[in-house]
Amino acid sequence: MDLVAVDSANGGASRSDSVVARRGPLPSAEHPVGDSVPPRYRAISERQLARIPQLACLPRDHRFAIQVVSRVLPFRTNRYVVDELIDWSRVPDDPVYQMTFPQPGMLDERDFARVADLVRRDAPKEEIAPVVTAIREGLNPHPAGQRELNIPKDAHDTALEGIQHKYRETVLFFPSRGQTCHAYCTFCFRWAQFVGKDMKIYAKQASGLHRHLAEHPDVTDLLLTGGDPMVMKAPNLARYVDPVLAAPELAHVQNIRIGTKSLTFWPHRFVHDDDADELLRLFERIVASGRHLAIMAHFNHWRELGTQVVQQAIRRVRDTGAVIRTQAPVLRHINDDPAVWERMWRDQVRLGVVPYYLFVERDTGARRYFEVPLERTRQIYSAAIARVSGLARTVRGPSMSADPGKVEIIGVQEVRGERVFVLRFLQGRNPDWVGVPFFAAFDPKATWLDQLQPAFGENRFFFEDEFDAIRRRKAVGSKP
Ligand code: SF4
Repeated sequence: MDLVAVDSANGGASRSDSVVARRGPLPSAEHPVGDSVPPRYRAISERQLARIPQLACLPRDHRFAIQVVSRVLPFRTNRYVVDELIDWSRVPDDPVYQMTFPQPGMLDERDFARVADLVRRDAPKEEIAPVVTAIREGLNPHPAGQRELNIPKDAHDTALEGIQHKYRETVLFFPSRGQTCHAYCTFCFRWAQFVGKDMKIYAKQASGLHRHLAEHPDVTDLLLTGGDPMVMKAPNLARYVDPVLAAPELAHVQNIRIGTKSLTFWPHRFVHDDDADELLRLFERIVASGRHLAIMAHFNHWRELGTQVVQQAIRRVRDTGAVIRTQAPVLRHINDDPAVWERMWRDQVRLGVVPYYLFVERDTGARRYFEVPLERTRQIYSAAIARVSGLARTVRGPSMSADPGKVEIIGVQEVRGERVFVLRFLQGRNPDWVGVPFFAAFDPKATWLDQLQPAFGENRFFFEDEFDAIRRRKAVGSKP
């Protein structure tokens, strides 16, 4: 059987530079550091599940469920994840297995039954596609107003596809070649990026980005995101970044951030890939330009930090002058335990990495499988942060990246005889909202901001009237 790095679920994502399709046998399971043959990246898609021998330890119905769920939600892994991160003696409970392999409970029962029936009957593509599309549409593929509220427009009122500008200081850019990942997280809030062009946010050209940045001198931060920009070859990444460094009119862009999970899923990217050194030279150029380079690394569990190669990768990235900051959501089945966070933050600080954000799982995709009530998430954060030294207390949260902004749960208090959540914005569509404390009636079951009610019998939160006005302005097409 050919090994072709195919697009994910039902012909979804486009191929990325370093996820080049190749023919030949599956690569070796061995990737020791210092091996004379450098490991080469190969994606494993849902069509190649039968080629992962470790899956044979699972009951047949569980293997079937993986097939069913991966028709709807994207699946991709690679041999580093399979052979070095997953502890197969603990499967299905292993956190990295849960993080990367579709699980039976990720679709609701009715949707699961519909797709299972189609798979069992070996139904034709034409019959499966509309069912899958309808299920995906019901999973809130673009949460937090990403399509309606975040995409800016140019002077001719044309949407700048592949750019998001939600907060005054920060612009997100989705380079077209960076819209896959070395493996896919089962809980991904950007899963829609991987399931077909219609649902995807991306830009082919950087010219619109540069014009937009030049027109917005308040922007200090450019975040390259995806997907994972680290799937791009270094020269392609440089084509986006070098013009920013060179343009005097973009001097206000002081911080370049790169959102990535490559340190977890393919740390060889920074150590053994053909262009690893070229990539690090690009990082050095960014730092030499006087800018701050922040690698926004995504780690969910301390196990991801345990291999020799990830530690070598971290050292190499830090040696360029870049700062690695970490962020992740609290997820049932993976890290809903303060001890996991405590150890992860301790390990990160020891490795010179800065804990940055603890998020609430977002309201999209397989949320029903992973979500943890806000109160439990808060308890996990509080218990973990209390057990680490000040160096790890840089981490903020729990934070909800919601439609109006990033809302932090500060705590639970009794105020005027009422039990309330104390909240504040860490980022807001209106910067004036940032830092203002506000109160929601305590609800032990709530899992997201839209399930909370204002405390003290009030009708609306303080920001809602203004947020409605922002929404109305966007709906009639005015510029940001
Ligand atoms: S690495 Fe990030 S973008 Fe990629 S699948 Fe995981 S959460 Fe999604």
